[in-house]
Amino acid sequence: MASSGYRNSIQKGFVRVVDRPLSATSNFRSNTFKSKLHPSTGIRRSSPGSLGGAGASRDDAGVPGRVRVAVRLRPRNAEELVADADFADCVELQPELKRLKLRKNNWDSDTYEFDEVLSEFASQKRVYEVVAKPVVESVLDGYNGTVMAYGQTGTGKTYTLGRLGEEDTSARGIMVRSMEDILADLSPETDSVSVSYLQLYMETIQDLLDPANDNISIVEDPKTGDVSVPGATLVEIRNQKSFMELLRIGEAHRIAANTKLNTESSRSHAILMVQVKRSVMGREAAFSGENDNHSHLDKPFKPYVRKGKLVVVDLAGSERVHKSGSEGHMLEEAKSINLSLSALGKCINALAENSAHVPVRDSKLTRLLKDSFGGTARTSLIVTIGPSPRHRGETASTILFGQRAMKVENMLKIKEEFDYKGLSRRLEIQLDTLIAENERRQKAFEDEVERVTLEAENRISEVETRYADALEKERLKYQMDYMESIKKLEEKLVTNQKTRVSNGYIGDTCSGEATSMSVSEEVSKVEKLLQNEIHLRKKAEEEVNNLRSQLVQFTESEGGGDSDILKLRKILEDEAHQKKKLEEEIMILRNQLLQLTIEANQMRRCSGDAITGLDSLMSQVMHSQLKDAGNGQKVPIGTLFEQVGLQKILSLLESEDANVRIHAVKVVANLAAEEANQERIVEAGGLTSLLTLLRSFEDETVRRVAAGAIANLAMNEANQELIMVQGGISLLSMTATDAEDPQTLRMVAGALANLCGNDKLQKKLRTEGGIKALLGMVRCGHPDVLSQVARGIANFAKCESRASTQGTKTGRSFLIEDGALPWIVQNANSEAPPIRRHIELALCHLAQHEVNAKDMISGGALWELVRISRDCSREDIRSLARRTLTSSPTFRAEMRRLRIEC
Ligand code: ADP
Ligand code: MG
Repeated sequence: MASSGYRNSIQKGFVRVVDRPLSATSNFRSNTFKSKLHPSTGIRRSSPGSLGGAGASRDDAGVPGRVRVAVRLRPRNAEELVADADFADCVELQPELKRLKLRKNNWDSDTYEFDEVLSEFASQKRVYEVVAKPVVESVLDGYNGTVMAYGQTGTGKTYTLGRLGEEDTSARGIMVRSMEDILADLSPETDSVSVSYLQLYMETIQDLLDPANDNISIVEDPKTGDVSVPGATLVEIRNQKSFMELLRIGEAHRIAANTKLNTESSRSHAILMVQVKRSVMGREAAFSGENDNHSHLDKPFKPYVRKGKLVVVDLAGSERVHKSGSEGHMLEEAKSINLSLSALGKCINALAENSAHVPVRDSKLTRLLKDSFGGTARTSLIVTIGPSPRHRGETASTILFGQRAMKVENMLKIKEEFDYKGLSRRLEIQLDTLIAENERRQKAFEDEVERVTLEAENRISEVETRYADALEKERLKYQMDYMESIKKLEEKLVTNQKTRVSNGYIGDTCSGEATSMSVSEEVSKVEKLLQNEIHLRKKAEEEVNNLRSQLVQFTESEGGGDSDILKLRKILEDEAHQKKKLEEEIMILRNQLLQLTIEANQMRRCSGDAITGLDSLMSQVMHSQLKDAGNGQKVPIGTLFEQVGLQKILSLLESEDANVRIHAVKVVANLAAEEANQERIVEAGGLTSLLTLLRSFEDETVRRVAAGAIANLAMNEANQELIMVQGGISLLSMTATDAEDPQTLRMVAGALANLCGNDKLQKKLRTEGGIKALLGMVRCGHPDVLSQVARGIANFAKCESRASTQGTKTGRSFLIEDGALPWIVQNANSEAPPIRRHIELALCHLAQHEVNAKDMISGGALWELVRISRDCSREDIRSLARRTLTSSPTFRAEMRRLRIEC
């Protein structure tokens, strides 16, 4: 029955009020709906769970989409034209008002409003456009869609949905037209469409594409609730022709199956399922890699896939619902035939009334159409009716079914998921391309290396040949020159002989013997003359000596009378000398007295009465240090500690009086020279004071003495760390940089050299500039300083080599990093034995660590090592060098290359 409220409102002339506002658009698609289907970006991302399940999609709420219902009136057929000739049609259509009037009798009718009212003149094209096209477009956008025809047998359901229109294309039905639109919209490279065609009869699903497959089950995804028929044949459609062929086969099988089952097609439901799979433009950037250079590998990529499913349902004739059993069917059969259709009616009623329970599971049809009514699909229902008043009852019930269906509200949801397969495929292709590219490059690189190696070898052998040639030429040239010289000499000899003969030296010109004879006679003559000469000279000399001694004797006897005066003069001179000495002594004593007075005052000021008497002792100590050993009054050091107190001595280092400071530092330096005192000096803070003096004094003597004291303290390993802790390395380094006096530098270098031998100080020495300062001191050129520098380098290298062996040092030597190598190489062959020995040792230590080898080769150290291994005077260093060279692969390779044998 019609919705009485609606009907009444029309009849009473009220403003149109319906249960639910109906769309007034001629097209089924609401604009709102369309705009939501096409977001401006065209990119839709699914949440991980959005594999097409209802309620799992990204658009969780979905888009409201009511089931749209159109009514189509079949024209009178031949039989009706005759049989109903005297009667009016049972319905009257008002298509422009989307209304249909169902006559009750000649004077009364009920009015119904539909989403679309299609008269007997409506073309197949128009029917498709208003009923199915919006659904097809939704499917192409990734939604599920349903087009279903409901109506009495013979009213045109199959005509509307399934006509192939082969002879007359204007007669093509919804199935054919839908596929045309789908194929036109898909891109064959990335999208696909597949079709299954099923028949449902007596609650059994049969495959119309493979009739032997006649008991297909419905599978529900437990997570998403999605329904599918995995047992059905799924044929991928590439063109319209193959689809038409498939529809033909399906229809043929439908007829055959119905014959076999002794039934007719009007008693079965035909279901066409069209699955559309489309790739969607994704966020290319996210997959194109970061490097634009690889753009050739990264064409636009579509990582999302939309899977819309169009279901076209040609239902069994609706009259069966009411007439079951009335045409002689077995009861059971009749029940089964009608089960699905009546279940569909119940579901739609329940949905229309918003009932809590919708009996979807009651039949296979309702299970299959779960998503079409009350689900996420966009659904269009076309109800077909005939004009004959004889079937008014059927027509009325069909119209009511349509009216109820219009109240069913679906929530449309896009079926989109991440295309993992596509992505993986694409990445595999990219990976393959990259691997191939990499292999190609690797090959090219290896070829290049081979080519360069070959070229280098060729060049070397060419140079060797040239060198050998040049040597040979040189040798030949010298040989020639030599021969030439011999020849010339011979010629000269002959010329000389000829000259002699012509000068008449020899009587017999032809006899060589005669010539030599005359020469020896000549020689003996000359010898005789010479001896005569010598004899005469000797005699003359004796004569001269004689005369000289006579002269001395004569002079001595002459001066005898003046001897007394001479003696007196000598005594006078001695007296004057003595007096001068005494005056000097007095001066010194006066100075000392003055000094003592000042010191005494100071002491008194600093320490008060407690140290009375100490002062004189202190001065004694100081003077004993200043005076020569023979003159001064030596105080034993031990006594000094006990009597004066170390603290007191150290405090004098900071005295305001420069002289006191100088004396004090000398005392401390002397004390520090003895190992027994060192610990106490350091404990008492002497080291700090000395370090401070080193920096704060401009007086060179103080600096020298302080540096000497520090050098002495630095000999002791325990003090070395203390020196470091108290900033001694940088203080020494600074002094090394600005001191000029070679003796100061020698002390500083000695101190640093001692520190260099401490394994724990390596890093500090480097970071605080110790190595650089050490190297800087070679500017002074004094052999003592150079020797200390060399010792420091050797010590440092030794510690490093130890650390390398223990694995605590991995990188290049700090010595190399700080640029010591050139100096080392330059002085490796120094004239001074201590310098040479230290440097030779340093080279051996450096060479023991493979990581230094390359720098040593390029710095020329390899030659020095080879020389050391051959010529060093010390056997142990020689064999150390040899061992080092043979154990290093880098050195070995270089020596092979240079053809050096060790
Ligand atoms: P149904 O599938 O509902 O049983 P059919 O589609 O088989 O009905 O239609 C029954 C008959 O009516 C067919 O001969 C068909 O050609 C004809 N027919 C149905 N609808 C129309 C129409 N709109 N115009 C012309 N003929 C129609
Ligand atoms: Mg039919």
